Amino acid sequence: MTYADFYQESIRQPEKFWDREAQLIDWHRPYQQVLDTSCPPFARWFVGGETNLCHNAVDRWLRTQPDQPALIAISTETNTEKTYSFAELHAEVQRMAAIMQSLGVKQGDRVLIYMPMIAEAAFAMLACARIGAVHSVVFGGFASKSLATRIDDAQPVLIVSADAGMRGGKAVPYKPLLDEAIAAADHPPQHVLLVNRGLDTMNLVSDRDVDYATLRAQYINAQVPVTWLESNAMSYVLYTSGTTGKPKGVQRDVGGYAVALAASMKHIYCGNPGETYFATSDIGWVVGHSYIVYGPLIAGMATIMYEGTPIRPDAGIWWSIVEKYKVTRMFSAPTAIRVLKKHPPELMKKYDLSSLKALYLAGEPLDETTSDWIAGELGVPIIDNYWQTETGWPILSVACGVEHKDTRLGSPGVAMYGYNVCIINESTGAECGAGEKGVVAIRGPLPPGCMQTVYGDDQRFVNTYWSNFAQEQLYSTFDWGIRDADGYYFILGRTDDVINVAGHRLGTREIEESISSHAQVSEVAVVGVEDKLKGQVAVAFAILKHPELAATLEQKLALEGEVMAVVVRQLGAVARPARVHFVTMLPKTRSGKLLRRSIQAICEGRDAGDLTTIEDPSSLVQIKAAVSA
Ligand code: AMP
Repeated sequence: MTYADFYQESIRQPEKFWDREAQLIDWHRPYQQVLDTSCPPFARWFVGGETNLCHNAVDRWLRTQPDQPALIAISTETNTEKTYSFAELHAEVQRMAAIMQSLGVKQGDRVLIYMPMIAEAAFAMLACARIGAVHSVVFGGFASKSLATRIDDAQPVLIVSADAGMRGGKAVPYKPLLDEAIAAADHPPQHVLLVNRGLDTMNLVSDRDVDYATLRAQYINAQVPVTWLESNAMSYVLYTSGTTGKPKGVQRDVGGYAVALAASMKHIYCGNPGETYFATSDIGWVVGHSYIVYGPLIAGMATIMYEGTPIRPDAGIWWSIVEKYKVTRMFSAPTAIRVLKKHPPELMKKYDLSSLKALYLAGEPLDETTSDWIAGELGVPIIDNYWQTETGWPILSVACGVEHKDTRLGSPGVAMYGYNVCIINESTGAECGAGEKGVVAIRGPLPPGCMQTVYGDDQRFVNTYWSNFAQEQLYSTFDWGIRDADGYYFILGRTDDVINVAGHRLGTREIEESISSHAQVSEVAVVGVEDKLKGQVAVAFAILKHPELAATLEQKLALEGEVMAVVVRQLGAVARPARVHFVTMLPKTRSGKLLRRSIQAICEGRDAGDLTTIEDPSSLVQIKAAVSA
């Protein structure tokens, strides 16, 4: 079958297409209806069917490959390495599930997971899936305010965490941030389950905090059967940034997600049982959910969970892992490759990389220099793939498992099966022709695996994603794009205030709110500015309540450091602005709207654009002066 035929079938006959793909997973009870679109834009997949993500990721493989590696946990921070077979993973997940049940977790309850990249984090996710609890993993790099917002939205009965993570050889304490977040939250959890790695001292709060190792010993022989869930039951909530300061809880189902991942592992990532998959992301991001934990395991592959940086002990570390575990498919982000490019290529050449069949890169635009360099070094196809937390699996790529298709430099590829992608003119709502720039949109229904709704807020789901175009109700990706005459898409940046730092998605509004909490700041604008290494960095322009406090260079630098520290303390180092400039005026329209795109353009040395509506052009002079100072 050609990819064109495969794709067309998925769009014209989605029920026939996905009914076939659904056979890739185990169903406890068959579904009665493949797709229910009776309430658009909501789509319900495999209605009435019963299945379980943990069963498909773990138990299913006990029949054929119980002793094959399933989870390989490697930490170059603690110098530990442990492989769990499917049978061992099954036992660990049951222990974790029994612990959760003993702490009162029931089907449908939320469990927040705030953990470093250790095996127990995967056990916790899979244990939730096993008993029908809803996990909400919060990236370990986020700090107390980010965490508190998510606790209040998810209202978890249990939080699973650890004493500390480790980065670059230094312990990064988690527990104090967690305690601070819980103290600030309106909905504190009943219990906190803590993995003690011996990296930092922990003060356990009595009646609330419990020690994982103690409970694990109690439940060492636990057998916890899988809870069969209706396909549209909730599997997890993963928070992502948008245009407001309040993160959105992307909510996913069970059956649709399992089918989508199984299909993507076959058609896009071409993974087979017994092989090894290595995604270098973090469980706190969507890649970690789909392609560190669930996807590879559902495909019967071993998956690598890696704690550490790409350059420690040296920049050959990832390639040594590829050699040792015979990794066939690897998934990373362009920033990581740009980091590696700064190191001697001999470090890569030292290792036998013959097992590797392809490297997938996603999360941010892939530039030609980076792509060419790594393709030359590895000698395997470099496959860009474009998607979002909301979709859970690629929207654009090339599906080599269906038909070989050439990649095109600068393009993440063509529309993936199931996604009816179109480019829409922002002002007219009409569909753009080839070569015309517009907003990348998707005609509903969204395929299986995509978000069901915004957790707890169906209206926000409709208003945010499905109400942006005049002529038709379409899903907006909030990315600008162009399609060429051959159906390859090119992504040209976000249409909203979301920025992408080293592949990490951040909301400028969240950073602005954090900066505004500094006692001296009266107003602030944060924009994303192009950066050679990280793709983008956040740059802030703040108006001070008392400008005289930043009269000298020393005062400015001290205040800049203070503002950065506030962001790090509240949101985490990941959100720290690269620069904080002090101005007395921000460029705004006469109606008071911040001209962020003009600020961004000036920072990037471009023309500030249409300024007919600007209230006071001298504000731009200040921005220019601040940037060039
Ligand atoms: P996230 O939800 O964190 O995965 O971020 C999704 C956003 O990252 C998208 O809306 C794009 O702006 C950007 N993005 C992801 N993958 C790519 C890619 N392959 N090329 C260009 N931009 C990408």
